[in-house]
This record gives sequence, C-alpha cells and structure tokens, in this order.
Amino acid sequence: IPIERIRNFSIIAHIDHGKSTLADRLLEITGAVSAREMREQYLDRLELERERGITIKAQAVRLYYQRENGEVYQLNLIDTPGHVDFTYEVSRALAACEGALLVVDASQGVEAQTLANVYLALENNLEIIPVINKIDLPQADIEKTKREIEEIIGLSTEDALLVSAKFGIGIKEVLEAIINKIPSPKGKREAPLRALVFDSWYDPYLGVVVLVRVVDGKIYPGQKIKFLSTGKVYEITKVGVFAPEAATLDCLFAGEVGFIAAGIKEVREAKIGDTITEANACVEPLPGFKEVKPVVFAGIFPVDNDDFENLKEAIEKLWLNDPAFSYELETSAALGFGFRCGFQGLLHMEIVQERLEREFKLNLISTAPSVKYKIRLKNKKEIEIENPAHWPDPALIEEVLEPYIRAEIYTPREYIGSLIKLCEEKRGIQKEIKYLTPDRVVLVYELPFSEIVLDFYDKLKSYSRGYASLDYQFIGYRAGDLVKMDILINKQPVDTLSLIVHRDKAYYRGRELTSKLKEVIPRQLFEVVIQAAIGNKVIARERIPPLRKDVLAKCYGGDVTRKKKLLEKQKEGKKRLKAIGHVEIPQEAFLAVLKI
Ligand code: GDP
Ligand code: MG
Repeated sequence: IPIERIRNFSIIAHIDHGKSTLADRLLEITGAVSAREMREQYLDRLELERERGITIKAQAVRLYYQRENGEVYQLNLIDTPGHVDFTYEVSRALAACEGALLVVDASQGVEAQTLANVYLALENNLEIIPVINKIDLPQADIEKTKREIEEIIGLSTEDALLVSAKFGIGIKEVLEAIINKIPSPKGKREAPLRALVFDSWYDPYLGVVVLVRVVDGKIYPGQKIKFLSTGKVYEITKVGVFAPEAATLDCLFAGEVGFIAAGIKEVREAKIGDTITEANACVEPLPGFKEVKPVVFAGIFPVDNDDFENLKEAIEKLWLNDPAFSYELETSAALGFGFRCGFQGLLHMEIVQERLEREFKLNLISTAPSVKYKIRLKNKKEIEIENPAHWPDPALIEEVLEPYIRAEIYTPREYIGSLIKLCEEKRGIQKEIKYLTPDRVVLVYELPFSEIVLDFYDKLKSYSRGYASLDYQFIGYRAGDLVKMDILINKQPVDTLSLIVHRDKAYYRGRELTSKLKEVIPRQLFEVVIQAAIGNKVIARERIPPLRKDVLAKCYGGDVTRKKKLLEKQKEGKKRLKAIGHVEIPQEAFLAVLKI
C-alpha cells in the first residue's frame, strides 16, 4: 500500500469516555475481528486490564479499510490509557501518529484528562478529530458538549462526529474522517532506515520484542540493524503487526507501525525512545522521549527471601515494558533484600506490584509510599530523601521541603463546596475558581503532593459522586513542618512502617495507625505492644493480649464450614506473613499505613 494511503492515529480521552469501546467497533467494521471473536475492550490484553476495566498499556493494531470507491487504506490504531498515572504511555503512542480521535462522553463533557491529552496531542503536532460519544444515553447533551469543546479546548466542533461506540452508530463516519483529515506519514521509503522504538517487552520465545514506527526506509528479516544509543548490532529475525493477533510480514516500510524481533536477550539493550538504523549507517537519531521521573516511592520485597533473585529478574523484564518506574536495591532490617521503586502515582504503583505478582508468579510486600523530600541540614548541606528509613536525626535538620503541585479540578458547580473542604483538609491553598460554562467549574489549588498521594483521588471521586476530575503539575518545593513517625512493635522499630507526616496530623495518624495495626496483626502467644513515636516521644500505643486458646476452640460443636473457612483464611494469611522479631506481621499491616 502506498504511503499516501496509510493513516496512523491514536484514540485519546478522559478515562471511561469510551476509547476502548470505539476501538472495538473499528476492529469490527474493518473485519479485523469477526463478530464471533469479538469481546468487549478487545485490545485490553492484560488480565489486569480486563479485570479492572481500564487500559494500562497502549496497543497498536493494523486495520484495512476499503472505501466505497474500492481504495484500500492501511490504518494503524493505537489505543491509549486515560488515567493520569499513564500519561507517559500516551505521549509515546502519540509520537508514532499523525492524528488523534479525541473522544468526549456526551453525558460528562470535557474533563481534566480530556484537556491534558489534547495538550499532549498538540505537542506532537497531531490533527485532532473531536468525537462526541455515548449519544445513545438519555442524559447525553450534545450541544453542551460541543460548547465545552469549543470554549474549554478551543477546537471547532463544526465537523465533530456524533457516535455511540456501544451501539455502533457513526462508526463509518469516523473512518472517513480519519482518511480525509489525518495526513499520511511523511517518511521516505528509499532513504536509509530510521525507526523509533516506542514500546518493548520480553517474550520467552522471541526474546525482546520491539514496537517501532518506521520513519524512513524499511526493515525486514535478515537485515542487520543497530540501536543508536548502545551501538549494538543485531540481525532481524522477525517483523510483523498486530491485526489484532500477531501476524508476520516480509517487510515494514516508512510510515508503518509494527513489531520486530532480533534475538535480543538483554532487556536493557532495547530502550524505549531509541532509534534503530542499518548496522553501518550514519544518521541522525530521532528525537526520542523526555525521561519521566517517578514521583512516588515505595519498597517492594519478596515475602519469601529466597525469591529475591526471581524478583530481580522480574523487575528488569517489567521495566523494559514500563520504563516509567525506577528501581534500586534496598535492604530492610524487617524485610530483608528488596527494591526501592519509584512510580508515577499510586495507581501505577499498584499496577506494577500486581503485574510483578501475576506475570512472574511472585508474592510481594510493598511498604508505604512516600514522595521525595529535600532536607536542608544545619551544616548547610542539602539532601534528598524518599525513604523514611534514611531520615536524618531531627537535631541536624534546619528545614524540610516538600513537593507541591498545582491541581486543576474540573467539576459540576454543585460539588464546589465539598471539594473546597477537601482541598483545605489536605493543606491546599486556593488560587482560582474559574467558571468554564455556567455550570462547569475549575478549582485551582496548590497542594502538597504527599497529600495527593494517599487518598485524594478516591475522596475527590466520592465527594463529587464521580463527576470531578483532576489534573496536576509539579510547581516545586516548599518548606513544611514534617516529622518522621516510627512504628515500634514490642519496642523494635519496624523500618518499613515509618512514615513522614505533617506535625499537625501526627497524633491523629499515629492513633489511627496503631489501632489499625492492632486489628490486622494476629494474636500471638505473647503480648504485643504497638507504639507510634516521634523521636523518643511515644504518641500512641495499643496492646494485643496474648492468645490463650486454640483458634478453633470456639468452633467446637459449631458448623464445619465455618471451621474450614477459618483454617483457609489462616492459610491465605500465612503466605504474606513477615516475622518482625518474633511477631508475625501480615501484608495488611504494611498496607494499613496507606489506608488512613
Ligand atoms: P475507556 O476508559 O475510554 O477505554 O472507556 P471504555 O471503552 O472502557 O468504556 C467505558 C464504559 O463506557 C464501558 O462500560 C462502556 O461499555 C461504556 N461505553 C462506551 N461507549 C459507549 C456508548 O457509546 N454508549 C454507552 N451507553 N456506553 C458506552
Ligand atoms: Mg480503555
């Protein structure tokens, strides 16, 4: 197919506005997936994506569409995630495209991530086609949605497409708009090869598999290629596309998107953002990607210390597929050898841990997440700390600085009151209240990022019945009255339970945390004392009395199923128990720190 008949596009939207469902309809109408094989959110391939109903990884698929005049077009579709934690996935996907469908839910209107994704698309010079989705819903308000797109985003809606992805309305018009409005790729097929690596993962049979956008030239099996950043040379063993299942091809040409394999065993040698060229060529590298910096940090440890090597290998492989997390070795007195990992946010952290556990069959414990603090010491030195275990002696500290964000909260007018209250609880400073339309408002707040990390997002959703949405940017470090709170179990500090808190909230957090730990730590044969302390000062204390009877004793004569359940529950808990001194602490205890 000539390059003029190729279109590379992405689908962007706020979470849940219907990107994956629209992708389903496009797969269906182009015959890529038969009605019989169709299942909802077809491209969400990870088990975790299907269970949670969210897209985590961007997916690239090739479709062929025949127009009424008989011309066949090749469409490369990249479905992207919508959650703020996965923005880097979106920005990588967009670098492989010339256009984007901007999906807006007609019953919700423009939300924070709608706007954030539009900015990403504009940065990549993409042609943006507005698609108003869910027009089948009784509460859909097409006119209002159009107004919001015009006023908030500044995009003309004259040609906006009206679609119901769920019921397959307006899908053909979407395909026509893709062909008519999105430019074809610009590359030169005769020029020397240049391909951008925009995703990669480890496959047990093929080695590292790399998703590329071929910018110039062509790439084919048998060709010798070079990764520009390392200079390493490989011979291509396989090229292909997802359509949507993997299919091998003879060649990928300039303008096309597809995967390659080259027997690469070393995961670090196929870095996302790198440029692939012919082995002996001398060409300019492609722009690549901005490095993303993790903002939330936590320790990840194997429950069973013998699993450390397996964890190490798993983390390296997963990192190849998700370079937005970082890792370094960490040792803990309580948990042994593990890794200190950095993430884009709490959801990202959860997803990484779950992927490690499922895709690599590991049993892991993670510690409370922390942001990165800067500490000015009395000796004028400045240090950065993201692990409470490394907190310096308070006597040496001159000042503690914490990261702040500027948050934009999009909400219908009726929730302003409760959202303002939430922001104040979280030490927010109000900057602005903007009315976008008479009933749609943006609250602009400056907030300490540590307050956002914990439960801000969940609260935002519950205070606004799911209607408010959030986007944020870092705006630098500011001084804060922060202290380290230690948790002691039978006088022994548990390093991985320490956390940094604002002094005003320390008593409250200390009390909550100790009582929560009392609930989750199983009774032992001896007394267990749980204390929260700042320095030497104990601020909260709980006691778990020793166990006298067998747990089953009270079940004698009782019903058998209950007894069974109790035993099963114990077994389940055992898997994740970590002994601290003589006290066995379950994973829930480590998680309890999060859930206050
Ligand atoms: P994504 O997060 O943007 O990928 O959104 P999904 O495609 O996963 O869709 C989120 C939810 O909206 C799912 O429950 C879909 O069934 C539903 N949905 C998507 N498109 C439509 C539509 O056109 N009409 C209606 N009523 N529901 C839709
Ligand atoms: Mg999706």
